[in-house]
Amino acid sequence: MRIGNLDGRLVILTGSGALDVQRASGGRFGADPQAVYDRWDEFTSWAVTQASDGAEPFDPARLGPPAPAPRQSFGIGLNYRDHAAESGLAVPEQPSVFTKFPSCIAGPYGEVVLPAGGHTDWEVELVAVIGPGARHVAEADAWSHVAGLCVGQDLSERITQLAGAAPQFSMSKSFPGFGPTGPWLVTPDEFDDPDDLELGCAINGDQVQKARTSQLIISVPELIAKLSAVLPLWPGDVIFTGTPAGVGLGRDPQRWLAPGDELVSYVEGIGELKQRFVAGPGS
Ligand code: ZN
Repeated sequence: MRIGNLDGRLVILTGSGALDVQRASGGRFGADPQAVYDRWDEFTSWAVTQASDGAEPFDPARLGPPAPAPRQSFGIGLNYRDHAAESGLAVPEQPSVFTKFPSCIAGPYGEVVLPAGGHTDWEVELVAVIGPGARHVAEADAWSHVAGLCVGQDLSERITQLAGAAPQFSMSKSFPGFGPTGPWLVTPDEFDDPDDLELGCAINGDQVQKARTSQLIISVPELIAKLSAVLPLWPGDVIFTGTPAGVGLGRDPQRWLAPGDELVSYVEGIGELKQRFVAGPGS
């Protein structure tokens, strides 16, 4: 199943268009896309009984983030071997966890303002959204706690990241619009193997990242086990699972996103994000 956020309303996406959940359910489920994760099992039991009659064609530009206001939004650093190497850092044995503050979460398409004087970098990532909450979850059970997967970009401003006495991952990755997600949420049962999906991105048509999620050092189920061993994962929380090699920081010469650049990011079996970058005030 695919669900989406159309003009801020929860929809089920079918081959023929979008089915408005509040209207189709006669008000049993509300329109707020974030609220559905609190009743995930009840919602999916109802949703599978729905025919696609009543689904309407839509303009994809109206899509917003599938989980627009998570209570917690996690990022995982250095989770692909080749990216750790290009960053000049050791392969971690434990996940390197930061937060993308929820105010940075954005939809799949649109403009992103480049912070003035910054070095803004791209990081295509698989994003997992939590369905039923998770606490002390075993790795073997972890996929049953995932509502679905979407494409994400962990946009990162590298000057802010390295300013200060210790790296500032959470700050550098939380400028407005720095957490595009979408274009919709695909439930794990839709994939032959949700642990092995191709992902990548291109700038102005030039492919800069390409890998498979089977190369994750700490897999999605392991991440959920390790995170939920420390704190509760709540319904609708999002996890940016890490980026493979090919970011601007690891290039020689280094490369940063510039005004006018178009970044297209994809994950196999899900879809594409498309961001256009514009100069911010003062740049
Ligand atoms: Zn990242």
